[in-house]
Amino acid sequence: MMRVFPILIATLAWAQSTLPPWTPGTLDIHQISTGRGNAAFFILPDGTTMLVDAGAAGDGIPQTDPHPDASRRPGEWIARYISRHLPPGAAGLDYVLITHFHVDHMGGIADVGAALPIRTLIDRGWPDYSYPAPLKDNAMAKYRRFLAEKVEKAERFAVGSDAQIRLKREDPLFRIRNIIANGELWTGNGTRRLFPPLDSIPAADVPNENMCSLGIRLEYGAFRYFTGGDLPGTPDPGFPAWHAVEAALGPAVGRVDVHVVNQHGSMGEESDAFLAALGSTVLIIPSWAPSHPAPDVLKRIVNSRLEPSKRYVFATDLRDAARIVIGARVNSLAGPPGHIVVRVAPGGASYSVFVLDHRDERDTVIATQGPFRAGS
Ligand SMILES: [Zn+2]
Repeated sequence: MMRVFPILIATLAWAQSTLPPWTPGTLDIHQISTGRGNAAFFILPDGTTMLVDAGAAGDGIPQTDPHPDASRRPGEWIARYISRHLPPGAAGLDYVLITHFHVDHMGGIADVGAALPIRTLIDRGWPDYSYPAPLKDNAMAKYRRFLAEKVEKAERFAVGSDAQIRLKREDPLFRIRNIIANGELWTGNGTRRLFPPLDSIPAADVPNENMCSLGIRLEYGAFRYFTGGDLPGTPDPGFPAWHAVEAALGPAVGRVDVHVVNQHGSMGEESDAFLAALGSTVLIIPSWAPSHPAPDVLKRIVNSRLEPSKRYVFATDLRDAARIVIGARVNSLAGPPGHIVVRVAPGGASYSVFVLDHRDERDTVIATQGPFRAGS
């Protein structure tokens, strides 16, 4: 008996420090930290799987800090992470969404697709990739070759639809609403265009790639979540006001529990009006560069005048340079950097947040917050 006892204790300690596996009815959202861009893996309540973005920024650029390390490419790390967390019976990814065509959002998708079957890939440009201008650089050529060879089905994101991304087993409590793409916004009652007709504006004012990002709102019971790539909160200096997409987006999204901070928390994003409209309890900053999050963004998102109730702000990464620039306000973060996992209870009434260590592949839980009541 005395010999068995220490083994039992070791097993219990291990169980406490590892994320319990997904179970049917639960909604898991993993914001994966590779240090090289965005990737969020979803296990929907019936086991349907989805990946939003597969970033691989800065090949060879010294400003990146890869996790767990530089021995593999970001897409390979993402695929390995997903493989460790796939629900029973899932062979790969039912859906992949690419928010927009920058390498920190799509650069790793070919590596993911080499490791895991992808059933349906949805982006803002398929099949012609011509808005606002033909997209035909090397990265796009590689991406389109990958679509043709490796993806079962590609589709263009249909703004306003709540049926393009669906469970295999219908659940009246669950829905993903396509909110925005290419400046077309779902208003709750049809769609409207935020950008003027291209032939009516100077060539220099043409919408940039970030502005064209797609965004979705996920609903599960009372739980609401928004993610939208690199949508901007302020126009670049001297550009027209309609370049700031957040202003119209906020009311269209409405109140949510959790949202992914726009454009990695870069300077000027997450405007007062957007934050007030969403009123999120949990904010996830998909950070990777030394400029993420910008001090002004963190200042706004922890500001108690915009949202009096307490906010829990998580960041996938926090580089030494960012810590120095931000100063004492880094202490307002609700946990250390890592993979940020939102786990929503069956039915969507409550949720918790787990931070998993991104320094190795053991997925050790290094912080938890919650449970939170959804819809509050
Ligand atoms: Zn980005």
